[in-house]
Amino acid sequence: MERQEQDCRAVALQGGLQVSHCLVDNDISAYSGRRRPGYLRLLELLRTHQVDTVIAWAPERLHRSPRELEDFIELLERTGASVRTVKSGVWDLSTPHHRLLARMLGAVSRAESENISSRVQRAHQQAKSAGFWRGPIPYGMRASTNPGLPERDPQTAPLVEEMLNRVQRGDALTRIAADLNKAGYVPRRGRVWTHTGVLRLVSSPALGGLLQVDGELQPAAFKGLVSAEGWRAAQATLARRPKGEVRRPREQLTLLGGILVCAQHGVSLVGGSGDRKDGRTYSAQSPGLCCVSVARGALDKLMSEIVIARLSAADAAVVFQPAVDLTLDDQLRDLRRRRDELADLLTDGLLPAASARPRLQALADAIQELESKRSPVMIEAAAFDRPHETWLRWSQPQRREVLRLMFDQIAVQHVGARNGPSFRPERLQLTWSGTAGN
Ligand SMILES: [Zn+2]
Repeated sequence: MERQEQDCRAVALQGGLQVSHCLVDNDISAYSGRRRPGYLRLLELLRTHQVDTVIAWAPERLHRSPRELEDFIELLERTGASVRTVKSGVWDLSTPHHRLLARMLGAVSRAESENISSRVQRAHQQAKSAGFWRGPIPYGMRASTNPGLPERDPQTAPLVEEMLNRVQRGDALTRIAADLNKAGYVPRRGRVWTHTGVLRLVSSPALGGLLQVDGELQPAAFKGLVSAEGWRAAQATLARRPKGEVRRPREQLTLLGGILVCAQHGVSLVGGSGDRKDGRTYSAQSPGLCCVSVARGALDKLMSEIVIARLSAADAAVVFQPAVDLTLDDQLRDLRRRRDELADLLTDGLLPAASARPRLQALADAIQELESKRSPVMIEAAAFDRPHETWLRWSQPQRREVLRLMFDQIAVQHVGARNGPSFRPERLQLTWSGTAGN
């Protein structure tokens, strides 16, 4: 917008014109039907002979209907004012020939503006529905001889495969980025790898041979670097991390910080920094509401023992290595069909937007939830054979991932009046997830 104003002022300068008014309609997508106070003011200025030249960025930006154009032409004829545009120079409307031209151009540009975005979108949509990739090809892949069908780049693919592995193991994205930089790898855009750069890359569905069509993941017509399930598992790991954790180096991560909640108030407890006197506790950070705290060491030890014991149980491999529920696909298909029907009703004007929106939102939420269920967390097999050893070997994020998988809630109760941090096992209140507690 500012750019357009500058361009118009440059035209005025070139023509030796003095600028008396600068009118801007924010809603210049001139076809939306909203009122345009700037345009109305312009007509007023012309009508009252306060201006004799109009400078516009493009002729099609001035009018939004043939009717308006005709009125405008009439007004120019009556007042003798002229029009200059940044894009098309002097907009001559003085002869029948030029007026015809203006009318045709107006009609064409109007049709263009209305259609261009939907046509581009439709083309993209069609390409994607056919499984073709649109947009920049992610690192680790390269363009093949078939447009829209990128392929594995043998040079960089192993790096990205390792990145996805590390993400799934719960490694911090900052750490992954730092390692790449240290090893001298340079991303396609920018000079160094960053937390965000790594996140953006590993989130690209192309890596799993998938495409996002209409907000949903569908198999692409090309192969990714890893299986769709592998990519989904990495996304699920990312999604389950609490906000902020992804940026924190793992050394500072406590076992239960942000996971543990107060049984009474539901607020989450965070681990202290460890260098203060009270640093060895988990405590609620909600002054005035909840001040529960609990000794970290004792609780961590007990939780570790509980998890190791659970992993040792005979049924653990079955319970924690869930097979993908195939009925989920049917449910997803059903939800999508309902959503499409709703969207059709909306498009055909048979359903008011106000009543469709909350229902569409609810369906979208349900679809998203099912999507995440379709990507179950995998616990490596070694955990069931040698749980203690494996637990010790795991990084803190990996342990936290297992805790989130195993429990719906880990809560701690206030004790007595003093709410002191000393830990007694009775304070712990565990809610096993799904079938884990059986
Ligand atoms: Zn509380």
